[in-house]
Amino acid sequence: MGKLRQKTITKPIFKWAQKAMPSLSETERDALNAGDTWWDAEIFTGNPDWSKLQATPKPKLTEEEQAFIDGPVNELCGLIDDWKIVWETGDMEQKVWDFLRENRLFGMIIPKQYGGLEFSAFAHSEIVKKITTRSTVAAVTTMVPNSLGPGELLMQFGTEKQKDYWLPRLADGREIPCFGLTSEEAGSDAGAMVDKGVICEGEYNGEKVLGIRLNWHKRYITLGPVATVLGLAFKCYDPDKLIGDEEDLGISVALVPTDLPGIDIGRRHLPAFQMFQNGPNWGTDVFIPFENILGGKEQLGKGWAMLMSALAAGRGISLPALSAAGTTLTARTSGAYARIRQQFGVPISKFEGIQDPLAALAARAYKLDGARHLTCSALDQGHKPSVISAIMKYHMTTAMRDSVTDAMDIHGGKAVIDGPLNYLGNLYRAVPVAITVEGANIMTRSLMIFGQGAIRCHPYLLNEILALEHEDKDKALADFDKYFWKHVAHSTKTVFRSIGRSWFGTGTSPDEPELKKYYKAMSRYSAALAIASDLSLLILGGKLKFKEMLSARLGDVLSELYMLSAVLKRWEDEGRQTEDLPLVKYNMQTGFVKIETALDEVYQNFPNKLVSGFLRAITLPFGKSQTAPSDELKRTCADLITAKTATRDRLSQGMYLCEHHTSEGIHRLEIAFDLTIEAASAEEKLRDADISDPEKGLKASVITKQECDLIQRERHATEKVIEVDDFEPGDFVRYGCPSEDGEPEESVRDYLRRTSPDLASAAE
Ligand SMILES: Cc1cc2nc3c(=O)[nH]c(=O)nc-3n(C[C@H](O)[C@H](O)[C@H](O)COP(=O)(O)OP(=O)(O)OC[C@H]3O[C@@H](n4cnc5c(N)ncnc54)[C@H](O)[C@@H]3O)c2cc1C
Repeated sequence: MGKLRQKTITKPIFKWAQKAMPSLSETERDALNAGDTWWDAEIFTGNPDWSKLQATPKPKLTEEEQAFIDGPVNELCGLIDDWKIVWETGDMEQKVWDFLRENRLFGMIIPKQYGGLEFSAFAHSEIVKKITTRSTVAAVTTMVPNSLGPGELLMQFGTEKQKDYWLPRLADGREIPCFGLTSEEAGSDAGAMVDKGVICEGEYNGEKVLGIRLNWHKRYITLGPVATVLGLAFKCYDPDKLIGDEEDLGISVALVPTDLPGIDIGRRHLPAFQMFQNGPNWGTDVFIPFENILGGKEQLGKGWAMLMSALAAGRGISLPALSAAGTTLTARTSGAYARIRQQFGVPISKFEGIQDPLAALAARAYKLDGARHLTCSALDQGHKPSVISAIMKYHMTTAMRDSVTDAMDIHGGKAVIDGPLNYLGNLYRAVPVAITVEGANIMTRSLMIFGQGAIRCHPYLLNEILALEHEDKDKALADFDKYFWKHVAHSTKTVFRSIGRSWFGTGTSPDEPELKKYYKAMSRYSAALAIASDLSLLILGGKLKFKEMLSARLGDVLSELYMLSAVLKRWEDEGRQTEDLPLVKYNMQTGFVKIETALDEVYQNFPNKLVSGFLRAITLPFGKSQTAPSDELKRTCADLITAKTATRDRLSQGMYLCEHHTSEGIHRLEIAFDLTIEAASAEEKLRDADISDPEKGLKASVITKQECDLIQRERHATEKVIEVDDFEPGDFVRYGCPSEDGEPEESVRDYLRRTSPDLASAAE
C-alpha cells in the first residue's frame, strides 16, 4: 500500500515540489543548521501546549550573580559620567576601563576555569540592562566582548590550545577583542565580502611556515580602535592547492593580533554621537600562521556556520537587554515627569493626550522585560533559538524606539535640550545604532524571521526540503513520502482547528480564569498562522522569500505570538499580580489587533484569490474582530506609572537609580516624584482654599508647619527637575581641542565649575 502510494500519488507531487519548493543555498543551509527551535516551534504547530510554557522555569540569579550586580555593577554605574564621555572626553575614563577589566566584566560568559565569571544568560542580560540605564556607551563596550565576538566563537569552536591562550587573556581584559565582518561591499549581505586570505608560505616569529596572507578593509567595527585582537571574517583561497584540491574554501574566521605588520587600526567613526569605540581597519599583506585560524586549519571555510551559531544565542541577549533597559527607563521617568510637570494648572499626567503614550510606555515595559526573561530562560536551558533571537532583536529594538519617542514627546523641551541634566537625549541617539547592528531591522523582519521561521519551526517542512535534495533518489522519495503525508494530516487537522476556533470559539487554555480568553485567542491565531504559512508555501514555494511584504507580515504574527506568550508567562511567574492585569490586557489587545491586521493584509495581497478567500473564511470569518485598548484601560495603565505603585516598582526592576550618585537628572526626578506624592494632600488643601503660597496657607491655618515645609521642599525639588542646562556660545568646545594659540580650551565641565558651580555639581 505504502509503495503504491509512493509511486502513484507521491511521485508526481515529489517532482512538482522539486521545482516549486525553495532550494537551499550553502549560506542558508548554514543559517538553518545554526541553533535550534523552542517555543517558536510550538507556536508553529498551530496548537501550542500551554503547559510547556508554564513549565519553563523563571530565570533566577545565583547568590554570586546577585552580589555581583549589587556590588561591582552598581559601583561601575556610579563611576560612569555619561555626559563627560559624550561631550568632553569622547571615551570612557581610564578608571572605568580599568574597573571593567579588573572586575572581569569583559569575561562574563567565559568559564571560570579560564578566569571568567561564567555567568548565566540571565545574569549577563541583567548586567547589560543595568549599565544601559546609566550609559549606552558603557553598555555597548561591556556587551560586545561578551556577545558575538572572539570570546563566544572561541568557546564554541576554538582548539584547546587557542582556548588556553586566549580565554584567560580575554577574561581579565589583557586583550580587548572586536569582531570584523562588515566591509564597504558587505553590509547586510555579509557573505559578499571581498576581504581575502590566500594560503601561502610566509614568515612568522622568524620562521618560515605555511599560513595565510590577508588583505582587508573593514568598517563600523565596535571596539576596533582599541582592540588588541581582531576576529576577522574573510574569504579564503588556495590557488596553489597547498592544502587540498579546493581553490575557493569560503568564509573563514581568524584571530588576528592587531599589532602585526600591515594592520592599520585606530581611526574612529562617530556613530550617532555614541562615543563607544568604533571604527574602520585595514590589513595589507598581513601574514598569519594556521594556528590563528579559529578552530585550526580544518575549520577553514566554515566561518559562516560559526558566525550563524554565535548569532543564534548572542542576538537574544545584548540588544534585547539594552532595549528592555530603554523601555524600563522611559516608562519610569516619563511617569514621574508627567506627574511632576504642571501645565494649565494641572499635572500633565491628567491630560488624556499624555495618558495615551504613558499607557503604551507602561505596557511595553511589561512586555519587553517579560520577553527578555522568557528568552533568557530558554538560553539558560541550553537552547540557541535562532528564530527567537531574530524576533527579539527586531521587536525589542523597535519597541525601544517607540518608547524613546513617546518619552521624548511627553517630556517636551526638557528632553530635547542636551546637558548633564538630560537623561533621554543619548538614549534617543543610540536607537538607530541598535536598529542597524546585528542584522538591520528591515532585513531581519522581511527576510529572516518568517523566512527561517517557516522552515525551521514547521514540524515537517525542513525534512521535506532535505528529502527533495537527497542524492539517493529512492531514499529521497521514501523520506518525502513519509513527511509529506504527515504534513497533509497536520494541515488537515489545522484547518479544522482553525474553523473551530474562529467560528465557534473553541481552543485550548490553561486553568487561568482571568486570562482564559487570551490563551484561547492565542491558540486560534497560532492555528491561523500554521495554515496561512502552509498555503503560502504551497502557492508561492521558493518565491515566498522574494515576497518580503507577505513574509514580513506572517513573521509579525509569529513574533507577536511569541511576545504575547512572554506577557502571559510574566503574569504567571510574578504570581498573577492583579494590579498588573491592565498591562496584560493592553498588550494582549494591542497584539491581537496587530495579528489580525497582518493576516488581513496577507489575504488582501495574496496572489491567489481563491486560496486567500479560503484562508479568510477559516481564520478571519467575521473580518477583524479585535479592538484596541479602550480609553479607560489606557487611563488605568497610565495611572500605574504616575503614582507610587507596586507595578511601577516591578516595571523598574534592574534599573540603576543613582544609588551612588547625587544630583543628576534621574536622581532629582526620583526625589521630586516622592515629594510630590507625599505633598499631594497638603497641596490639595491649599488648592481648595485657593491659596498658592504655602506660607500664606500656614498663616491662614489651612496647612500645618510640617505640611508647609513639605510643600516648600517639593516645589524646590520640582524646580530642580524642570531645570535644563544652558551654555555660553563659546562653551561648545570639546575637551583638549587646541585654541588658536595651541592651548587646550577649557572644557564645558570646567566652564560650568567656574560659572555655575551648582550645575557643575549636578554633573559630578
Ligand atoms: C555603530 C555600528 C556598530 C557596528 N558594529 C559592528 C561590528 O562590531 N562588527 C561588524 O562586523 N559589523 C558591525 N556593524 C555593521 C552592521 O552589522 C551593519 O551596519 C549591518 O549589517 C547593516 O549593513 P549596512 O549598514 O551596510 O546597511 P545595508 O546592508 O546597506 O542596508 C541598508 C538597508 O537595506 C536593508 N536591507 C538589506 N538587505 C535587505 C533585504 N534582503 N531585504 C530587506 N531589506 C534589506 C537593511 O535592513 C537596511 O535597512 C556595526 C554598524 C554600526 C552602524
